[in-house]
Amino acid sequence: MTFIKKSSRIFTNRSLNMSSIKSIGFDMDHTIARYHREEFESLAFRKTLEKFIEAGYPASLSSLSFDPNFVIRGLLVDMDRGNLLKVDGHKYVKVAYHGHKKLDKSTRHDLYNSSGYKADSFISIDTFFALSEVQLFIEIVDYMRLNPGSIKKTFRDVYRDLREFIDLSHRDGSIKDEVMTNMENYIVKDKQLEPMLKKFIEGGKKLFLLTNSDWTYTDKVMSYLLPKASEDFQRWQDYFEYTIVGAGKPNFFTGSNPFYEVMEDSGLLKQHSGSLKLGGSYHGGNAKLFEKLTNQKGDQILYAGDHIYGDIMRSKELFNWRTLVVVEELEEEFDRLEKLQPELATILEMIKEEDKLDMEASTLQGKIMTLKRRRTYHTGDHNRLSKLDRKIEETEETLGNIVTQLENSQKKSSRMIKDREKALHPIWGELLYTSLEKSRFASQIESYACIYTTKITNFLLYSANQKFRSYRDSMPHDF
Ligand SMILES: [Mg+2]
Repeated sequence: MTFIKKSSRIFTNRSLNMSSIKSIGFDMDHTIARYHREEFESLAFRKTLEKFIEAGYPASLSSLSFDPNFVIRGLLVDMDRGNLLKVDGHKYVKVAYHGHKKLDKSTRHDLYNSSGYKADSFISIDTFFALSEVQLFIEIVDYMRLNPGSIKKTFRDVYRDLREFIDLSHRDGSIKDEVMTNMENYIVKDKQLEPMLKKFIEGGKKLFLLTNSDWTYTDKVMSYLLPKASEDFQRWQDYFEYTIVGAGKPNFFTGSNPFYEVMEDSGLLKQHSGSLKLGGSYHGGNAKLFEKLTNQKGDQILYAGDHIYGDIMRSKELFNWRTLVVVEELEEEFDRLEKLQPELATILEMIKEEDKLDMEASTLQGKIMTLKRRRTYHTGDHNRLSKLDRKIEETEETLGNIVTQLENSQKKSSRMIKDREKALHPIWGELLYTSLEKSRFASQIESYACIYTTKITNFLLYSANQKFRSYRDSMPHDF
């Protein structure tokens, strides 16, 4: 697929033949509906911050400002210590910040790496909604660091308040009302959405929408994205066989909630039993019942979402649904990665050379040990002794040269790695790597997503019955 540019490609972790997929489900927020993220996240940041001040936190918190680039997905939040962590696929903490202060290597090592920790007790930043939430947390942690005693709460209590204020902002409509009133400021209108959905329908796929958002919001957003009525698609719901709102994923996959029918005019819910009506809208429900009522089996369904935990982990593990994850951040990162490709090639070449030098140094060290031992137990004449001494001296000199060469190269390559990381993201480096190893986020994508891409409409570049082939999983010994 080299003829499609990288940011528009669909990548395969596990081979997927779309001709055996009968039904495709879509999450709405950040999957079908892309957000103008900076605007949306700063709105959520501001509205939640207002709640803090209303609840009696210092009024000077209002000077805190939203930074769209500080937090990225895949990080962990240590709520008890107020720290933000970037972790590799083996749970090793590679970068850590307390507020805006970077933890030095030894503190980071003592806290997290010397004896391990339970990542389960940390919060994982999986959703785009969590970015502004965590950034606000980190800003308050920083405020507490710079103004000791100003907020007499533990970091965990602050986080608990934060969750409550965010829920409140959602419940009282502070965030969603603003989005619904000024839709064009917050939601990206992707002209390719309609042709993509049509392409799938013409390709014989049945589509469904499965979102955690409520009916009113879903209806507003979808009407904005698919406004044109045509003979075949008079309403946005006509693109989908079923629309399920308020799904409560991941509970939708683990629980046994019943489906309620949504009265589309009023948004009111009605008890529901029996099969699901084509083109109908429902609230709640569960995956087991969904499969039964729609007469489908797990691996005939492809589900596309942006949230590892909510959308693809349980659907894959428990129901064997095939999965696609949208990793929107990669779109920008691919451009930067491409520009930095020559640096990466040089770094990898240098590391290979360093490994060679390291082995040569070990061999010479062994040789010196043997010579020195021979000298200690030497019983022969003086001539042989000075010969041995000369040999030791020569070998030590060669070793010294190699060690200097190695150290210089290591200094240079680690500087180059750091510069490259900084060019990708000034704080956290590459999204899917920590230095040269895969990040925890990358490991999750590999484990739970059959395919991944930067935006859902990239499908338009492929056939509705495309064979997505995983060419060969590689192991370190392949290189
Ligand atoms: Mg989503």
